[in-house]
Amino acid sequence: MKFDPASEIQDHHVFGEFGGVNPSITDSSTFTFLKPDTMNELFDHEIEGCFLYSRHWNPSNKYLSEALSKMEGTESAQVTASGISAIACTILQICKHGDEIISSRTIYGGTWALFKNILPRFGINVKFIDVTNLETLKESINESTKLIYCETLSNPLLDVSDIPSLSNIAKENNLKLVVDNTFSPMVVTPYKLGADVVIHSMTKYINGASDCVAGCICASQNFINELTDINNGMTMLLGPVLDSFRSSSILKNLNTLHVRMKQHSKNAKFISENLDKLGYNIFYPGLNAHPQHKLMKTIMNADFGFTGMFGVDVGSLKNAEFILEEMQNEKIGYLAVSLGYYKTLFSLPGSSTSSEIPEDEQNKMGLSPGIIRFSIGLDNDIERTFNRIKKCLEKLN
Ligand code: PLP
Repeated sequence: MKFDPASEIQDHHVFGEFGGVNPSITDSSTFTFLKPDTMNELFDHEIEGCFLYSRHWNPSNKYLSEALSKMEGTESAQVTASGISAIACTILQICKHGDEIISSRTIYGGTWALFKNILPRFGINVKFIDVTNLETLKESINESTKLIYCETLSNPLLDVSDIPSLSNIAKENNLKLVVDNTFSPMVVTPYKLGADVVIHSMTKYINGASDCVAGCICASQNFINELTDINNGMTMLLGPVLDSFRSSSILKNLNTLHVRMKQHSKNAKFISENLDKLGYNIFYPGLNAHPQHKLMKTIMNADFGFTGMFGVDVGSLKNAEFILEEMQNEKIGYLAVSLGYYKTLFSLPGSSTSSEIPEDEQNKMGLSPGIIRFSIGLDNDIERTFNRIKKCLEKLN
């Protein structure tokens, strides 16, 4: 039967402490025990329904984590204070000194910098490759390799990862497959396709309001238990705990994610198709000409479109800077990094969210300085938005 993340969230019934339709917000960092021996027991292992200390678990974070595990079809999940801490904790939980990671070359610049500059300090080496080339991937694996890392839809070029094939290669070589699904919540369900760990920056689509930073890790119960282990767990001991008030507001927003993803995708498809007709070089997996369009159709959940993100190459940095300013003046959206907001955001990845990546690496991944990244908003009249974008582009001639 086809997996429907929206129905999974819909059927996830939670009753608040006093029967409220929204669960109560936990406003406590620590929790009482009626008897000291229960406290000892809880330090040894989790007891259903009991809480110890909010950095470990609290009810608000549990509610949101449970809903996220439903959406991603995993046994369990844990929320974190940012997407990047979710990535760092996952990697450090799996890898130790001397291990190697094979990572996609086209990933978010912050993740790239973490992998390139921070992990080697802990003796963890990262090899960056083109993961759409499965032969290169197989050749890159050696006895130190511990995990394969990729984004479902890469930031910012929208390359599509062949998760089922990556998972087969990972399993054959006893590796973990870790997938960042930030660009495609509901659109793709990587765990169902064989990924071991699925990560989100909830700062983006899941929350959808650009009013906070948050992340999550969705995985097996075993892995989440490892992360939260009092003696050896990375989320417990590095401490990127999400505030309960934020957890509670993100949970409410999660319930409208399916409607938002449909509209973001519908709007992005309309704009990218029409810019394509005008002859622009577009990076959008919903276009027939996208190199992994067919693959995308085989891995996506049909109802949520191809995501609300796309890139367009306007030829040069100078052109791109001119267009960005014009578009902001035309009220098409905001010149800002980040994505998944209800209004349109646009930026130049080469000099912002991917600026951590040196020029030669940017060239290898095909990221040229004239590429504008769009996160298309929930605009009701998308034809009006397209006409405004067209008007700005025409000013270049
Ligand atoms: N993953 C992707 C694909 C991102 O785009 C980002 C941020 O832009 C992150 C992870 C990091 O998330 P956060 O900013 O929530 O730490």
